[in-house]
Amino acid sequence: MRIPENQIEFEKMFTTEEQCLDYLKELRFPQGYSCRRCQHSEYWLNNRGIMVCKRCKNELSITSGTIFHRSKLPLVVIFRALWWMVAQKNGVSAIGIQRVLGIGSYRTAWVWLHKFRRLMVFPGRNKLSGRIEVDETLVGGKKSGKRGRGAEGKSLVAIAVEILEKGTGRVRMSLISDASKKELGKFINENIEAGSNLITDGWKGYTGISKKGYHHEIDDKTKILDGEEILPNVHRIASLLKRWLLGTHQNYIGEEYLSYYLDEYTFRYNRRKSNSRGLLFQRLIEQGVLHEPVEYKSIKRM
Ligand SMILES: [Zn+2]
Repeated sequence: MRIPENQIEFEKMFTTEEQCLDYLKELRFPQGYSCRRCQHSEYWLNNRGIMVCKRCKNELSITSGTIFHRSKLPLVVIFRALWWMVAQKNGVSAIGIQRVLGIGSYRTAWVWLHKFRRLMVFPGRNKLSGRIEVDETLVGGKKSGKRGRGAEGKSLVAIAVEILEKGTGRVRMSLISDASKKELGKFINENIEAGSNLITDGWKGYTGISKKGYHHEIDDKTKILDGEEILPNVHRIASLLKRWLLGTHQNYIGEEYLSYYLDEYTFRYNRRKSNSRGLLFQRLIEQGVLHEPVEYKSIKRM
């Protein structure tokens, strides 16, 4: 399949609804169309994006069962919103995308960006492995908080990052309710391969982790960030995350949505060296084709 490598190519590839539908169709049927009822491989495509089996006349909407189904926005606009989101180094805010694309409602723009964030965690992704720094940080709010308890208006985020010979590898981050052994243990187990070397500080929440199949090394080179002690690599990533939340999103983030912003940030960080924005665009559209539609209501109460 063709992948748009820059803005000009993108514009050429997705000028009309038909071109967008065709792209979705190719991603949905990589091996070619096959009728759900009679397995026939030939169809007519009508102008509403419905594929009609030439033999039994069974109808299938190209977008049914995907996040693109029955959208209020035209596909050309949705595609552009996603393209902007992946092509811009720091992503986009709902207000930014609303202005650039002339989307009538802020809410619609906001919902679509959330739908895209939900596509950014690929199923079956590999856990982190090797040498990994793990720590927690407080995000949001104005007052500084106390370890292990969180603070008013702040959310506690666990961060893990692979330490390579030069620089860092992939990251994972998760909203956690407290820095207890239970919460940290769950985060580590879900995100880090057993047998890895964990580097943490001396916080009691990490004691006993070596009994769960991890090598454990305690580091005391913690740095201070907003009054918090934090390991150097996690420290750097936490600063970048906070700057991104403030810069791109002006910190307009309630805790109920924070996880989705963390997913987007993780996606961006882990693909920071990728040269092909077009490939990222295609992977996300593909995820959207395989993904069930996300209703506004479910986003509202995530
Ligand atoms: Zn058929």
